[in-house]
Amino acid sequence: MNTLIKAEGLSKEYGSGDAVVTALSEAGFTIEEGEFVSIMGESGSGKSTLLSILGGLNSPTRGSLEVGGIDVYGLGSEQRADFRREFLGFVFQNFNLVEYLTIGENVMLPLATTRIAQRTQREMATRALGRVGLEDKIDRLPNQISGGEQERVAVARAVVNDPPLLLADEPTGNLDSRNTGEVMKLLKELNEQGMTVLMVTHSEACAAYANRTMNMADGALAWASPE
Ligand code: ADP
Ligand code: MG
Repeated sequence: MNTLIKAEGLSKEYGSGDAVVTALSEAGFTIEEGEFVSIMGESGSGKSTLLSILGGLNSPTRGSLEVGGIDVYGLGSEQRADFRREFLGFVFQNFNLVEYLTIGENVMLPLATTRIAQRTQREMATRALGRVGLEDKIDRLPNQISGGEQERVAVARAVVNDPPLLLADEPTGNLDSRNTGEVMKLLKELNEQGMTVLMVTHSEACAAYANRTMNMADGALAWASPE
């Protein structure tokens, strides 16, 4: 097994002076390629902060992060954007689909800043939608499909470039139990196909899909003891 993520002493403070909030405190851990890790913890415990730092979107106040052997915050901003495009897929709770673009166009969005030909982009979007079972919805608008389907489109968009690492922040937070089950099965499948998955969740049932669970409290992180 190769190490995919290596975090050392990662800390994040927001604000300054008396108003400093320590959102993440000295987080150190490694994650191997092919793992499925869930991250649990109360609201405000630092889960989204950790995920955004791992995704190269939020500079830590202290500490270092390597993903795939790359010193993420040693990169300049343009190189970091390239790194994100190549290595990462993101899924959020609120889907963030663009309402005036079709499903296919939404899925192609991460490719917009690449040199990939338009026709190839469409083929990649079709394939990604195939992975989530929504190929036939490619020309619909977001408001013409269900909430569960929208979240699956968000997953398709996150994996359209076939990234080695998928970061999901409460991907089932707004879904009923049937749609939650579908999205979780989907994430499990992607993981079984080789993608490393890190998922924030409030649900024990969702966390059970993962191989390991990280618990966060007040910015501090601890691995749940293996059963
Ligand atoms: P979680 O995702 O577990 O709910 P967050 O990472 O969003 O936690 O937040 C951790 C702490 O950092 C909270 O106290 C939150 O209010 C604070 N925080 C998060 N983002 C910011 C920000 N951009 N500016 C200031 N404080 C923030
Ligand atoms: Mg959060």
